[in-house]
Amino acid sequence: MKIAIVGAGIVGVTTAWELASEGHEVTVLEQRGAAAEEASFAPAGLVPPAYIAAWGTPGLHRGGSSRWWGTNAPIRLGSFPGTQALGWMWRWQRAGQPERWTATHAQLARLASYSHQRLLAFIADTQIEFDRSPGHVVLMRTEKEQRRLQPGLQRLRDAGIAGRDISADEARRLEPALSPDTPLAGAIHLPDDEACNSRQFALILKNEAQRSGVQFEFGRRVLSCEAGRPATLRIEGEATARSYDAIVLCAGAACGLLLRALGLQLPLAPVYGYSVSAQVREPLNAPRGAVTDERHQVVITRMGQRVRVAGGAEFGGTNQTHRAATLRQLYQVLQDWFPGAAQFSAGVQEWKGARPCLPDDLPALGAAAPGIWLNLGHGGNGWALSIGSARGLADLVAGREPEIDLGGLSPQRFASR
Ligand SMILES: Cc1cc2nc3c(=O)[nH]c(=O)nc-3n(C[C@H](O)[C@H](O)[C@H](O)COP(=O)(O)OP(=O)(O)OC[C@H]3O[C@@H](n4cnc5c(N)ncnc54)[C@H](O)[C@@H]3O)c2cc1C
Repeated sequence: MKIAIVGAGIVGVTTAWELASEGHEVTVLEQRGAAAEEASFAPAGLVPPAYIAAWGTPGLHRGGSSRWWGTNAPIRLGSFPGTQALGWMWRWQRAGQPERWTATHAQLARLASYSHQRLLAFIADTQIEFDRSPGHVVLMRTEKEQRRLQPGLQRLRDAGIAGRDISADEARRLEPALSPDTPLAGAIHLPDDEACNSRQFALILKNEAQRSGVQFEFGRRVLSCEAGRPATLRIEGEATARSYDAIVLCAGAACGLLLRALGLQLPLAPVYGYSVSAQVREPLNAPRGAVTDERHQVVITRMGQRVRVAGGAEFGGTNQTHRAATLRQLYQVLQDWFPGAAQFSAGVQEWKGARPCLPDDLPALGAAAPGIWLNLGHGGNGWALSIGSARGLADLVAGREPEIDLGGLSPQRFASR
């Protein structure tokens, strides 16, 4: 089949790779000048199948914890909400209720685990090298936080996933640079989680995909798509529409316009987050792997010669304005745990990105209209879920039963609600 993919973020690139491996003639259309320039540019980089299986999405805490205010609110308002935003917030709130969350969570955990297995297999097959830090330590400042995480640990034990409640001393042995001055009640060690550089991986995979015949066209903004056989799309500056057997929309948080033009009402919204990346000043003072500060839902990761600290969740607003208080918190959390790890005198990258979120925290994956497919809305787990989602999408396009159950991810699930 002749297939167009709109968007070259981590989801578009992995989708291109998987579709090309099925022998399709694939073209990726990307408005920016390179791959992974938007949400996939500088996320925390966690690939945390165990954390997801236990608690959901790091940084977007879910399952009964859906407040919009207070110091520890998992998500904040970036602007005054209009009617549409209020509708999204209401759905998000409802999806976080325990009975719904259990099913969502199981689906998310399956996809995260499948995706990680495929990532590991891909790395083993291709021997590619990129920034990866093994292991994940979740730090709990108080006993109250420890108690709150216990049900998640039990879920890990029930599922036979590696994860251990460890003492503060043990946490300090795993991460020797942890500051002794910050109170630490205990930690959870998730040895199979890891942090990897999603942008680096996207760029490497883009080159691999190109070698297997995928055409990447940068600087191509898709204005609209039309369903049909063939399906067509219009590109800014081109007089005639292009025709394809299938079009896959992987345009992340910006997909709303294309969806509306197709008449598809998907409640996709950007939830903004921030990261700060800086050169390691002294390796002995830097983290070895991934560390999550449970109280603040801030993730600190080691990206090769850099340290990255990421967090914050803002609903509404734009990615042009930076919330100083959130950035301050990121610097503070890094200072609390790893003082002296990073060099802030030059080369610091402060970044704000848009997590493409659907209110039930699951992606939309599958056919949306004749000739139109969706692989989008991966929220705070886009990197962690991308490879499994891309494989699932390729199976669906081939008319095959996917290896894992993707039932709850259909784009139609919002139609009746
Ligand atoms: C602070 C922060 C921390 C995060 N941490 C993690 C983490 O630890 N682990 C994890 O798994 N995920 C994390 N995420 C989430 C993850 O970054 C996203 O889910 C993921 O990058 C989304 O990928 P995507 O390909 O769907 O979107 P994007 O990377 O945004 O790609 C979409 C692409 O489509 C292009 N596009 C849009 N519209 C058009 C158009 N009309 N025509 C042509 N091209 C178009 C865009 O230019 C863009 O390149 C984090 C996000 C943030 C903000």
